[in-house]
Amino acid sequence: MKKKLATVWLGGCSGCHMSLLDIDERILEVVKLADIVKCPIVDGKEFPPVDIALVEGSVTSDEHLQELLHIREVSKVLIALGDCAVTANVTGMRNYLKKEDVLDHAYVKAVSNDQQGKMPGHPALLKLRDKVLPLQEVVHVDYAIPGCPPPADTIFYVLAELLNDRIPNLEQERKLKYG
Ligand code: SF4
Repeated sequence: MKKKLATVWLGGCSGCHMSLLDIDERILEVVKLADIVKCPIVDGKEFPPVDIALVEGSVTSDEHLQELLHIREVSKVLIALGDCAVTANVTGMRNYLKKEDVLDHAYVKAVSNDQQGKMPGHPALLKLRDKVLPLQEVVHVDYAIPGCPPPADTIFYVLAELLNDRIPNLEQERKLKYG
């Protein structure tokens, strides 16, 4: 039976998903073995129960936290995709500063065409947390694919192994590739 695969991005730049798209025609091998039931490029419905979840980005807001807890609950295998998911990386740079100071510099003090210099306050905006967290500080992560962005070959390797009921071994894959 085909597996169910979903991808999502939390606090990320979408670069990891661009790298996923860089597996190019190998996506046909993936869809032979899996139905892609959710993906940010395709739709916005709630994250459904899946065999494999690829999660890009870190936890930057209350909404991300709730979403990640939900994803963990409905996913058999959760993969942290890229350095923001694994270590917080670029998105975690603000952890060295106070959140209010970062927002102030971005929206009020920054040179901009926006003459108002106001902090956006629409209720639909994400409620940023004081500190950005990598995934494993919130939930159990089964596999991590490092890189900013992670290489397409590595993403495909991990997916192909899992979809064929094998356990990915990134160290072995690295040695085969680079010696
Ligand atoms: S790991 Fe790099 S490419 Fe991926 S979301 Fe973070 S900044 Fe973007």
